[in-house]
Amino acid sequence: MTGKEDGCGCKVESVRTDYGLQYRDDQLVQKWQSGVSVRKLTENLNKDIIEAALSAANVTQHQWSRSPVYEALTTDELSEAEEIEIRRELDRAGVDVEQLSSDLVSHQTVYRHLKQCLGATKDDSQTPDERRQKAKDTVFALQQRLETVTESTLETLQSAGIADLGETDVLVDLNVVCSDCGRSMGFETAVRDGCSCNNT
Ligand SMILES: [Zn+2]
Ligand SMILES: [Zn+2]
Repeated sequence: MTGKEDGCGCKVESVRTDYGLQYRDDQLVQKWQSGVSVRKLTENLNKDIIEAALSAANVTQHQWSRSPVYEALTTDELSEAEEIEIRRELDRAGVDVEQLSSDLVSHQTVYRHLKQCLGATKDDSQTPDERRQKAKDTVFALQQRLETVTESTLETLQSAGIADLGETDVLVDLNVVCSDCGRSMGFETAVRDGCSCNNT
């Protein structure tokens, strides 16, 4: 663990220290401000953590590059069999897979590091609330439009005698599913609160 004077002490800071990663926060902020997404920055950090773990265990000699390991540990892109195989190989090579998985950071953590630890801001004229409102307006307008189009399509089919319906109401339901925990939430909740699994 680093002392407060060396850094912020958040998870971003502590995994960098633990894995001996040379990172410069000013460059991180610069990349973010120039348009690199937090997701991408997070992916890069996680890949560097994996690479450090692999080279510490001398796994780089083997066939494992960081990409399949990254996919195995953080995404659902590989089949279960492939994932198990990679975990097993890592384990055999002496990598503590559980430890490594839990050391990987979420994009919320990186975002907090940027905003709270570093006090970085993006040069945006709109406040977060204004941006949320704008996002809601965009999506709700589309939702409204989908309802209208669906209704008139049904009416057309009905008046042509192709669809057999009485009075109908069309409801467009929008759900956002968190792929980390599987929780489903409304769009408004997703925009306002995020998922509760990320609030730690
Ligand atoms: Zn931090
Ligand atoms: Zn979640």
